[in-house]
Amino acid sequence: MARYAMVIDLRKCVGCDGCTVACRTEWDVPIGHSRTWVNHSGAIGEFPNVYSTNFVAQCNHCDEPACVPPCPTGATFQEKNGIVRVNTDLCIGCGYCVEACPYDARYINPITNKVDKCDFCIERLQEGLQPACVTTCTANAKFFGDLEDRNSIVYKKVFEEGAWRNENENAAIGPNVYYLGTKNQLEIVKAKYGPRKSRLVTPSQMWKDIIKPFILGMVGVTFIGQAIAFFNQLRKGEEPIDD
Ligand code: SF4
Ligand code: SF4
Repeated sequence: MARYAMVIDLRKCVGCDGCTVACRTEWDVPIGHSRTWVNHSGAIGEFPNVYSTNFVAQCNHCDEPACVPPCPTGATFQEKNGIVRVNTDLCIGCGYCVEACPYDARYINPITNKVDKCDFCIERLQEGLQPACVTTCTANAKFFGDLEDRNSIVYKKVFEEGAWRNENENAAIGPNVYYLGTKNQLEIVKAKYGPRKSRLVTPSQMWKDIIKPFILGMVGVTFIGQAIAFFNQLRKGEEPIDD
């Protein structure tokens, strides 16, 4: 079974936004939203040590996609080949997945009221084509293929050239969009474009962060209250009352 991935070489990207435009055109993305976009860092640092990068982003088709579990209808799901998709017939536009995605890779389409995001151009793949953004990139900065295939371009770039994943302490969910870049570009990406914490409070998070500490706190308070009452009775020379 294939495991699809993309590698983006930040050293080659010239920041032309051609990938964003090609994707918008291919998928009729409404103005103000994007399935893939280019962050332009601008100059960072102080002369003579000034650096910049273009950072191309999109859905990462994560190994453990944060967007899938919160979806109440099963509209967001992952194919066996790793592509995370949206079944628009099932999507009710609740936006839970939008809040959960640490890469802000999803948006609610204001025309359809359904969620939308990159799906690696799965319909083009089924026709034997590459994703539109890969085909259009005049700088040849984007590469797409099967990570399970040792002869694929992405296999070579990930396992032989050491392409890296954009992960941090907020989210380490196995993104399958990898990056090649200079040390300075990596530093800028880490500082400015790393994943954020999920804004969604899932049932398991609610249990861990709110309900469990609350119950433990209540048990602690009750225990301390009982202990104080017991010692007060002892101090007064009374027999503790058994109920
Ligand atoms: Fe889901 Fe976001 Fe990961 Fe894409 S990048 S698979 S939308 S969690
Ligand atoms: Fe960079 Fe290629 Fe996208 Fe242009 S089309 S912004 S060069 S990745």
